[in-house]
Amino acid sequence: MRIGQYRTTDDESLWSGVATDDGVVDLATAGTAAGLDLAPKTTDLLADWEWRRKADLAVEYAEETGVGLRDPADLDRAAPVDDPQKVVCVGLNYRDHAEEGDNPIPDEPVLFSKFPTSVVGPEDAVRWDPDYTEKVDYEAELVAVIGEETRRVDPDDALDHVAGFTVGNDVSARDLQHGDGQWVRGKSLDTFAPIGPDLVTTDEIDDAHDLEIFAEVNGERLQESTTANLIFGVDELVSFCSQAFTLEPGDLVFTGTPPGVGVYREPPVLLGDGDTVTIGVEGVGELTNDCVTE
Ligand code: ZN
Repeated sequence: MRIGQYRTTDDESLWSGVATDDGVVDLATAGTAAGLDLAPKTTDLLADWEWRRKADLAVEYAEETGVGLRDPADLDRAAPVDDPQKVVCVGLNYRDHAEEGDNPIPDEPVLFSKFPTSVVGPEDAVRWDPDYTEKVDYEAELVAVIGEETRRVDPDDALDHVAGFTVGNDVSARDLQHGDGQWVRGKSLDTFAPIGPDLVTTDEIDDAHDLEIFAEVNGERLQESTTANLIFGVDELVSFCSQAFTLEPGDLVFTGTPPGVGVYREPPVLLGDGDTVTIGVEGVGELTNDCVTE
């Protein structure tokens, strides 16, 4: 199942929906009509252990009756998860990226975070003040979305705690990131964590560790790799995080970026007003955001 979050153009409230050939199924509305209790927002939806079965039934009901079916032309898209409690990221997690920079392969993941207020969706712009940062960069990433409360889980069981995957851009203000000595400010500017377009459930992905991944800026391909190069896989990352802190439904784990980010290119490629960045992950989707300076 591929779940997005939408709002009708005349209403600010968000709801999770599934695109079908007939339109977008508003899961909560179709669910209510079918006698099922489904929370409108993805984070609340995931917290219901029966959500998957109920969502399937709601889609079936909408397709049969038309109830809860919306015309995509009347809808705006938002991030598939807009209000995670945590956005966890990992540094230097692609073998080819580590080798490119002559960095040793780390023994353990190095975690950092972005504040949840940085999350935006597939139709939002990445925005910044050029007087505040002059070195804005892209990072193509596979993002795991946590499906249930997770504490001290083994790697073998970790994927059972993942609801699905989405595409992410770990937008980074390199001057702030490197100038501060630690990364939270440079990684957490508002709009610096675009994700989407959909949350793709794990059953749709054969092997999360064998997916092509790329970044394009204005149509030019600047990052290209495969998640087979991940040093720590999604299972290991989720397990590692869960030894330290509780993961909650809707939490996002950005799994790191392959070689080819702008700041290390010769000459460097830094994002500017009017640029368009597309991140793609095979089977998960493509996420395109415009850049706007203000
Ligand atoms: Zn990153």
